[in-house]
Amino acid sequence: MKIITSISEMQSLVESLRRQGRTIGFVPTMGFLHEGHLSLMRRARQECDTVVVSIFVNPTQFGPREDFERYPRDEEGDRKKCESAGVDIIFMPSAAEMYPEKPEVFVVVEGISDILEGAVRPGHFRGVATVVAKLFSIVKPHKAFFGQKDYQQCAVIKRMVKGLNFDVEIVVMPTVREQDGLAMSSRNSYLSADERRAAAAIHRALRAGEQLVNAGIREPEKLTNKMRAVLREEKGLLIDYIEVADPDSLAPLEAVKEGMVVLVAVRLGRTRLIDNLLIRLK
Ligand code: AMP
Repeated sequence: MKIITSISEMQSLVESLRRQGRTIGFVPTMGFLHEGHLSLMRRARQECDTVVVSIFVNPTQFGPREDFERYPRDEEGDRKKCESAGVDIIFMPSAAEMYPEKPEVFVVVEGISDILEGAVRPGHFRGVATVVAKLFSIVKPHKAFFGQKDYQQCAVIKRMVKGLNFDVEIVVMPTVREQDGLAMSSRNSYLSADERRAAAAIHRALRAGEQLVNAGIREPEKLTNKMRAVLREEKGLLIDYIEVADPDSLAPLEAVKEGMVVLVAVRLGRTRLIDNLLIRLK
């Protein structure tokens, strides 16, 4: 497994791999890797000749009062996990390598970037779209793998790829969960024991919403009321939003429909957690 920190070295290596006719699979991450990340890497391993993982905590997607400084890091552990997943190349640039000057070029996906996560975290998706566009120009993947856990991020990236004609296939993989249903996240490491217990309510709430749909309920408001009630059983858990949305545009729905997505964001102490569930009509 190769570890590369320089953009030009990454570009020339991938260029020669492409000339040899190898397909490049790419998994962008911010590190502190867990099974969710590894599931993307394993899928990339199955589908592509060369697997590149980037580890870069991207400053431009964090707001001024967010957790950029304390975001968890574990270089040694990440390296071992990548190795075990069969990764060929880790691309691990410094912030100075990625942003040698104050950035003046940004990718903005209008509309979808301003709702839900984007409304709570202004500028977040501009930072995400910009860094992913840069990483695509550096790694030149044939396929890039993302997690459904960050549903809105996937929607933003798909729109960026379409809008800017990036020649890359976006593959979205299911959310990997802990035993009690909590979506795996690097940020779960922030949680105290009490908060960790309470965090399981997020998935319970999503499932409770799904059960109502299965029982024939069709009004989004009834789902969100039920979900809010489940979440409110946990003291110290604050709800940022619960939304029943169209799976493509993420616009709020007046009536439930096939393939809708339910998105939740909560705060537990200083930690913000998000999750979602795609719900089928039976
Ligand atoms: P991050 O390091 O949090 O930026 O995540 C890197 C990639 O891993 C993103 O595409 C995430 O959606 C994906 N990911 C994070 N958590 C999970 C999870 N629990 N299951 C599946 N994919 C995940």
